[in-house]
Amino acid sequence: MKMEQVSDNCYAVLNEKTLVCDANSGLINLGGGVVIDTQSDLAHARQMIELFGKVWTSMPKRVINTHEDGDHVWGNQLFEEAEIIAHRTMPERMKEVAEPKEIQKLTRGAGHFLTRLLLKATHPGLLAAGRQLQEDYNFDGIELVLPTTLFDERYELDLDGTEVHLIYVGPSHQVGDTIVHLPKEGVVFAGDVVFQLCTPMGWTGSYEKWFQCLDLITELNPTVIVPGHGPICGIEGISELKAYLQYVRDESRKRFEEGLTSLDAAKRIEFGPYGEWRAPARLYMNVERAYREFRNEPPDAPWNAAKTFDTVYELAKAKGIEIEY
Ligand SMILES: [Zn+2]
Repeated sequence: MKMEQVSDNCYAVLNEKTLVCDANSGLINLGGGVVIDTQSDLAHARQMIELFGKVWTSMPKRVINTHEDGDHVWGNQLFEEAEIIAHRTMPERMKEVAEPKEIQKLTRGAGHFLTRLLLKATHPGLLAAGRQLQEDYNFDGIELVLPTTLFDERYELDLDGTEVHLIYVGPSHQVGDTIVHLPKEGVVFAGDVVFQLCTPMGWTGSYEKWFQCLDLITELNPTVIVPGHGPICGIEGISELKAYLQYVRDESRKRFEEGLTSLDAAKRIEFGPYGEWRAPARLYMNVERAYREFRNEPPDAPWNAAKTFDTVYELAKAKGIEIEY
């Protein structure tokens, strides 16, 4: 984990491995301080606090959660005094998708011999994901701390004369997707509507909405974008991500019309230059999202996480690559 200054008053903490749970955090070092996203476990959150602590004068007054996934909210409890700001849908969604008990069970199970045997027989992908997470994360002690200040379309802060715009852009990759724009600093903290050098994994939302959101970021024309996962980038990073999503949707359409399943489609679709990104087999999830749209399913049709991890595992095996989530 490292800290980078991205503008006069903005900083980012970046998890350089960029696998699942390796989320980034941001700091706006004005108006008592604002932290954007709080890491995946308490150890990482403490490390983030230590890094930002080199530049801030005290613990921040505010926290913004860019969306409901655990890797962006599981350090919230360490900001006891802070006001936590997020989109209106977030408290309910966090209870649905960020309940820490599930992941605690999974990572404990992945370390236990008998459970491991069982998981291997029934859910090899889930086991592989659990083992990968176990290498870097310990989810013990996490309590879900929900946002207290909720907004609908936009929310604005004035920090010592610097405007901060929270803009709701969901559901693109998740229901609560929010970007944080500081026009004067030329910075956008994008959360998981932007992945860099690692394959995006979206859950609830549509391709169309995601494209609109990427176009909006381009129009805002920031100098620096802090993605949810991966290194900081400029506008060119947004074009690359959009090109990937367009490529996957177009290829998926062809295979869908040929009558293939989403897994068979993913097996046939070449990684191309995107094979260099981390966790390329997450491709399956992007194909499946496209298929859901072709089948006219609602964007919030639920995912079976175990089955999804197993299918990503199967795709990696079929492509002859090491499994990464
Ligand atoms: Zn994330």
